Amino acid sequence: MNKYDVVIVGSGPAGLGAAFQLIEQDPNLSILMLDQEKICSGGLLNDCKQNYTYPVGFPTEYWSKEEADKMLHIVRKHLNPKILPKANLELYQQRAEKVKVTLINIDQAHVGTDKSKYLIQDLVTQLIDKGVDVKLNVKVEFINNEVKYIDTTKMNRIYYDKLVVAPGRKGFTFLQEVMNENGVKYIDNTVDVGIRIETRLENYPIVKDFYDPKFYFPNNVRTFCTNSGRALVTREKYKDFDIVNGHSLSDKGDGGNKLVNFAMLKTIGLKDPVRSGQQMAVHLARLANEIGGGKPLMQRVGDFRAGKRSKQSTFNEDLNDFKPTCPACPGDLGLAVPSKVMRDLWASMKLLDTIIPGILHPSTIMYYPEIKMYANKPQFIDKYFKVAENIYMIGDGAGTSRGITGAWASGIRAANGILLNK
Ligand SMILES: Cc1cc2nc3c(=O)[nH]c(=O)nc-3n(C[C@H](O)[C@H](O)[C@H](O)COP(=O)(O)OP(=O)(O)OC[C@H]3O[C@@H](n4cnc5c(N)ncnc54)[C@H](O)[C@@H]3O)c2cc1C
Repeated sequence: MNKYDVVIVGSGPAGLGAAFQLIEQDPNLSILMLDQEKICSGGLLNDCKQNYTYPVGFPTEYWSKEEADKMLHIVRKHLNPKILPKANLELYQQRAEKVKVTLINIDQAHVGTDKSKYLIQDLVTQLIDKGVDVKLNVKVEFINNEVKYIDTTKMNRIYYDKLVVAPGRKGFTFLQEVMNENGVKYIDNTVDVGIRIETRLENYPIVKDFYDPKFYFPNNVRTFCTNSGRALVTREKYKDFDIVNGHSLSDKGDGGNKLVNFAMLKTIGLKDPVRSGQQMAVHLARLANEIGGGKPLMQRVGDFRAGKRSKQSTFNEDLNDFKPTCPACPGDLGLAVPSKVMRDLWASMKLLDTIIPGILHPSTIMYYPEIKMYANKPQFIDKYFKVAENIYMIGDGAGTSRGITGAWASGIRAANGILLNK
């Protein structure tokens, strides 16, 4: 078959959300879902923690609570989350309020990287059983929306009536090309820049009570994507630089590696005459990799406080008593992180240390860059994330979500738009 009613690029949660909604609402539709990987490569595979409370993962410029809650109800039906228990929430909230920090109460579930592949395989099998064509390991290289076709690496030209583009954050360059080639206007003015913190579980014991606590600090800084148990910091590879991220394996109840990692991110809203927030993020990431000899940087809090760089030779001595889980380059974050960003991140870490004393232990590692590559937001022409006649752009790459559940919800919303305009 080389013509489909709907072609979906990307089999992450955004693509899956669209595919399920379309085929369940109209089983007669012919649908093709493609992914360049053998299994979707974003957060559904990595760690797979799911947040079910607005506004976590839902950019408020596109989502009202009412709209998000409606969609979350459907997301739950597909992902069947086991909501984790929480303890001592009020205590932490009171401590946070005293220093003008907010800790929000979220319904969360966690699958773990080792188990999430089975969840994904099950979801894909369900789609195939319902009649969706799924082609993995096939990269979409070009889209022509005038004639309505896509060119891929491994299949012949494929024609569509409607196209859903959901390539995730890693696909941000692809998304940009599609926008440029098809005259889609975009807003390019927001960047999330930050560090990933890795420390001993005993220095951040809140995770025993709350898997992924979301703290909101002054100056648009927030904690994000906390992993514990068998937690690892990883390198996320882009064309000519790496950034850091984190995930963990499923809970085996044995305490795991007794480490925790989480991101501290600052959202920067850029104003005229900035040319490209996305390119700014790329430059920042490249600078850090340049200083780190092609790797991200890492520095112990003890060294940072003493105003000296971390070195390979000093990295594991004395109080620095756990090995980093990520192969990064010991160095000086001060050379790479813009000073305003570093100031706000450090101020937030100090506040966090008053709420959960321990995080500023000298052994705590700060990795950089943790930058979110979803800077370029298409200008949507309707509430269903339509960007041009017959094209919808959704998920983290397009900025309609910041997490699995928001991405899935974006897919449902785009599907609803397609169903209305059939
Ligand atoms: C290491 C890591 C851990 C994370 N952990 C979490 C977490 O625990 N919880 C959470 O909520 N979020 C997490 N996230 C964020 C999460 O990835 C996203 O919020 C979510 O996956 C976004 O969904 P998406 O469908 O937009 O994109 P993705 O899940 O990234 O899916 C996009 C898919 O499109 C494919 N693709 C891209 N370009 C093309 C192309 N040209 N042709 C064909 N296919 C293409 C990609 O291979 C990919 O599989 C994590 C991200 C990373 C990188």
